[in-house]
Amino acid sequence: MATLRLYNTMSRAVEEFAPADGRTARVYTCGPTVYNPAHLGNFRSFLFEDLLRRVLRLAGYDVLQVMNLTDVDDKIIKRAAERGVTIGEITEPVVEVFHDDRKFLRIQDAEQYPKATQHIPEMIALVQSLMERGLAYQAEDGSVYFAIGKFDGYGRLSRLDAREIRAGARVAHDDYTKENAQDFALWKAAKPEDEAAAAAWDSPWGRGRPGWHLECSAMAMKYLGKTMDIHCGAVDLVFPHHDDEIAQSEGATGVEFARFWCHGEFLLTEGAKMAKRIGNVATVADLREQNVSAAAFRHFVFSTHYRKQLNLSGDALEASIEGVRRVRDFAERLEAASGGTPGLAGAAADLVRDAEAALFDDLNAPAAVGALFTFIRRANAELDRRGDDADALRAAREAFARVNGVLDIVPDAPRADDELAAWVDERLAARKDARARRDFASADAIRVEIEARGIAIEDGPWGTRWKLAR
Ligand SMILES: [Zn+2]
Repeated sequence: MATLRLYNTMSRAVEEFAPADGRTARVYTCGPTVYNPAHLGNFRSFLFEDLLRRVLRLAGYDVLQVMNLTDVDDKIIKRAAERGVTIGEITEPVVEVFHDDRKFLRIQDAEQYPKATQHIPEMIALVQSLMERGLAYQAEDGSVYFAIGKFDGYGRLSRLDAREIRAGARVAHDDYTKENAQDFALWKAAKPEDEAAAAAWDSPWGRGRPGWHLECSAMAMKYLGKTMDIHCGAVDLVFPHHDDEIAQSEGATGVEFARFWCHGEFLLTEGAKMAKRIGNVATVADLREQNVSAAAFRHFVFSTHYRKQLNLSGDALEASIEGVRRVRDFAERLEAASGGTPGLAGAAADLVRDAEAALFDDLNAPAAVGALFTFIRRANAELDRRGDDADALRAAREAFARVNGVLDIVPDAPRADDELAAWVDERLAARKDARARRDFASADAIRVEIEARGIAIEDGPWGTRWKLAR
């Protein structure tokens, strides 16, 4: 089996990775709060996790991936209260949008998408075990808090300075900053608006609802066991969310919660300067509206290493649209080819070697994308030689499919409707007639007419081919 290396935030080093059982990588990926459609910054994280998932499989492992859906939190309850509906009425349509967007971007299905509201008993049990161990207490406001001062090594993942921690000072809301680390709420006493929005449950501490950090610990351990292989998320989750997950989980079990912690960097959209042709894009719906394909967006994201910040810009998206158009042209040519050359087989072997070396080295997707484009250049030159080596052609197709199976950057071919196709065929026939009678002015006029409808035509020894240009 190939040696896979991953950067582990816990050790701040790239380490060799293999699943604890040698076979199945158990992976937890913090999912969206289903309040608004996820923005492209969230999807950069989910694409990094899709890349990880596909690379684990390329390395020969099975994957058991869990992604939670946070369907109860402060913002959701506030909106439900404003509209006089339950939290379920707010979150259900957003869950659907999330899955549509994810599928559009070709993000593979996780094995489980547990919802917080469907795991309340597991969360209560976890709080109970923390109470029994003296790591949690119920305060006078009725809520239950985690006592960070009683947990050895709190803040180990973020390497938070101990002086910054003020144990005993409590926060009831989900978000707080590194500057005011405090005892955090495990279980929040119900308020009237929680009851009105159907966001309150019975517990040994009275009616209430879970804190955000608690849900991930409870659901991760339910589906993956006490110790998982990899826990992922965006860098802004390192503190407090992941440090709190560690405190809750290890406080209850006494064993390591996750062997590897992997974090993806931000997509910077703030003040992003977009080119004229592509307007502002913030969501997957915007990408669709602007005709930016999934392949192009994946190419854009994978052209930067996941641990580096990435700027969303119109120029970069344009470059990716152009880049994946070349990938599709090549894919079509490879599909239609009837034979190869020894040089083609050599290029295929180099592609597999270089792309796998890159991907197994802490998911170096930009280097893998580079290897793919090098292969396309070389393979195009070899295909020009019109060889008849069937094995070489098969090797090239397999190598391309193997690497594209991870990157997934071949855009769908745009389809012309039947009417347009019939019109193009008729015009091409007219152009051929014009050229046959050496009426080049008419032939050129017809070409201009066809191209004006967004169709590219290509003359070659095989005749004339056409396709939609975009
Ligand atoms: Zn989480």
